[in-house]
Amino acid sequence: MSDVLMPGLYIVATPIGNLGDLSPRAAHVLSNAAIVAVEDTRVTAGLFRHIGIKRPMIAYHDHNADRVRPGLIERMGREAVALVSDAGTPLISDPGYKLVRDARAAGHAVVTIPGPCAAIAALTLAGLPTDRFLFIGFLPAKAGAKAEAIAEVAAIRATLVLYESGPRLAATLALLAEKLGDREAAVTREITKKFEEAVTGTLSALAARYAEAAPKGEIVVVVAPPGEAAPASVEDADTALAEALTRLPASKAAGEVAKRLNLDRRELYARAMEMKK
Ligand code: SAM
Repeated sequence: MSDVLMPGLYIVATPIGNLGDLSPRAAHVLSNAAIVAVEDTRVTAGLFRHIGIKRPMIAYHDHNADRVRPGLIERMGREAVALVSDAGTPLISDPGYKLVRDARAAGHAVVTIPGPCAAIAALTLAGLPTDRFLFIGFLPAKAGAKAEAIAEVAAIRATLVLYESGPRLAATLALLAEKLGDREAAVTREITKKFEEAVTGTLSALAARYAEAAPKGEIVVVVAPPGEAAPASVEDADTALAEALTRLPASKAAGEVAKRLNLDRRELYARAMEMKK
């Protein structure tokens, strides 16, 4: 690898615990960047010590990003500017997307150096379907907004992945069980670190377990997609049909209920005619 980096923005993923996960390419870019934008200089200084480098750093976080960004954009026209977060992949529940957006708008090269990401690592541990998943980051802290955010994704046919903290875990699992139904889930914790674990079970069983003692460390929750909906019962169909018949002629009522409950239209029409007798 040549030591000289082209000018531009380099998005560099860093370890989420085990420093051995820093890729050689990530180390190379960090060693040769003109400046590294970091969330917390003390955290990244630890990583630099690990690979034996010293590079200029500039803090780039939620509280100063708007002020710092224009200077970084200007510099990446003539130098290599790297972006890291405290751990994992920048931009994933971390700052950075506006830097990428503005870098592109200014015509600068944007290069990614992929690597660890807690959400993806958790999916590999959970033993739940991975063909479709939805990452929902951190849920809102306030109870009402949190319940609303969960209700919003309840019908989505995908595995859900979310970040959570130990003290809030049990309440979040209980709310997930209430709003999503008691699905299978996994609580993954301290991934790539000494006490890495993945505990699986239903949401309610996991909620009960963690209500006894809040776990320490960093956590990702993975929740199974909704199961196949149970077919509507005869009673459900009759109730829906009776209600629809108060508004619609039999054929339209049968059509509406068939669509809503995924039932056979002709059978419902016959039933509607019986009910009308
Ligand atoms: N950008 C990071 C990434 O790529 O995963 C995520 C940053 S977000 C601010 C931090 C959250 O990620 C933590 O609160 C935790 O939920 C999750 N996390 C980070 N490292 C983790 C680890 N080693 N084990 C489990 N979860 C982790």
